[in-house]
Amino acid sequence: TQDFGISEALATLYIQETNNGTSTGNDWFGSGESIVSSSPVDGLSIASVSTTTKEDYEKVVSKAQEAFKTWRMVPAPARGEIVRQFGDKLREYKEPLGKLVSYEMGKSYQEGLGEVQEMIDICDFAVGLSRQLHGFTMHSERPGHRMYEQYHPLGIVGIISAFNFPVAVWSWNTALAWVCGDVCIWKPSEKTPLTGVACQQLIAEVLKKNEMPEGISCLINGNGEVGEFMTTDKRIPLISATGSTRMGKKVAATVGERLGKSLLELGGNNAIIVTPNADIKMTVIGAVFGAVGTAGQRCTSTRRLIVHESVFDQVKDALVAAYGQLKIGNPLDENNHVGPIIDSDAVRMYLMALEKAKTEGGNVLVSGGVLEGNGYESGCYVKPAIVEVENSYNIVQQETFAPILYLIKYSGDVEDAIALQNDVVQGLSSAIMTSNLREAELFLSQKGSDCGIANVNIGTSGAEIGGAFGGEKETGGGRESGSDAWKVYMRRQTNTINYSTGLPLAQGIKFDL
Ligand code: NAD
Repeated sequence: TQDFGISEALATLYIQETNNGTSTGNDWFGSGESIVSSSPVDGLSIASVSTTTKEDYEKVVSKAQEAFKTWRMVPAPARGEIVRQFGDKLREYKEPLGKLVSYEMGKSYQEGLGEVQEMIDICDFAVGLSRQLHGFTMHSERPGHRMYEQYHPLGIVGIISAFNFPVAVWSWNTALAWVCGDVCIWKPSEKTPLTGVACQQLIAEVLKKNEMPEGISCLINGNGEVGEFMTTDKRIPLISATGSTRMGKKVAATVGERLGKSLLELGGNNAIIVTPNADIKMTVIGAVFGAVGTAGQRCTSTRRLIVHESVFDQVKDALVAAYGQLKIGNPLDENNHVGPIIDSDAVRMYLMALEKAKTEGGNVLVSGGVLEGNGYESGCYVKPAIVEVENSYNIVQQETFAPILYLIKYSGDVEDAIALQNDVVQGLSSAIMTSNLREAELFLSQKGSDCGIANVNIGTSGAEIGGAFGGEKETGGGRESGSDAWKVYMRRQTNTINYSTGLPLAQGIKFDL
């Protein structure tokens, strides 16, 4: 098979055939059994990574605790300078890292590069933020008193990430957490351990150059059990977890039990509403990219299209025609639109969802199936499918992490469409296609979309780092990335200072001695 520069990328990123999966920076160890990472692109094993045992984990946590004592005293802008250097390192390694993301996870090379670009962007954002960790000042009711609030670092932040954005999600958390003065322990998905090893090598070089101690950036590897080392650990005040709602419910319960903080970024069931006032050409482009981009494995992928009956046939015909043009194959080959899904389990879930949609009464408009033969040896290439359904079907209420688009017809006005769009348990991303101001503003109003992200005339998929990212309901309620999302990585303290010679009490209370 064609190599597409993979061997070179692996060598540039210092990935060997067997790799230690536990690191506190420049110190690498890991005595647990190994995970072999194999590529959904061609089914071949890439390399192995050793998992983290409880003993290894204890070593990591004590290093991180020590490092926090130093790191919290480094002035925030100086921490920002180190994050700036990490952004430069990522610029230097953008191509090999983008390629590894593409090969290990299966997204297109362009999307792999885009993911690394997102890491660079969040580093830039964090550098600016490092001089803007602002608190308010307020007027005291007592004479000769001053009040203000300030933000202090939390300590160790535990980051648990999903396979589909194997590197960007880590950087969204870690770049902010570092400028906030926290140290981080990252457990990447067990499906994409190599991208984790690569990122850790890059940051370790930057920290070493700056003569920073071990423990500011740590890596652990393994499955959910290794994740539980952190969620049950009182020494970790904040757990940021990205993944399925099933995982999020467990993490929330475990962290809640010890009254820790959790930031949850869970599943979506994202819809685009297409009103009679939609630009159909734009709608089709947005819907197709949203549904088949990253082979339907984005948390913001378009799962449902809620289309007014007056334009339903027109939208349906245009979509079917567009799906006919899709090229499915190796994501490193830029001629292809759709790559593989992550593994055979994901393929099984995809097939099961299509079966269920049919059993519940769905009408298949573009049929699915698993591709076989030359170029499809991994068994992970599936055909993007479209099924006409009712929103109330069980299967439509669930997030299937694959390229299946559900088409739903609505009659009546935009409020009926909004009711359908909100009638799922998830609340991540949503969009409306309309050139009618009233429809658009209603969709964005307090009786409109109940999602964390609501767009007008763009699709549901993807987001810019400048805004806070996350969703409501079973999506978990967390916010990451831009805006004031940084506040979750810090603890707030309210300070009152008395510069008078008396001791007046608040609320006029008298206590005379
Ligand atoms: P997953 O839930 O299977 O795994 C996610 C991570 O959680 C992995 O690192 C896994 O090892 C860990 N984990 C599992 N059980 C755990 C436990 N009990 N304690 C601690 N850690 C545990 O998800 P996945 O298949 O890797 O990713 C796909 C899912 O992620 C989809 O539902 C998608 O919507 C969601 N996702 C959400 C966002 C978002 O920002 N909202 C972003 C990306 C992905």
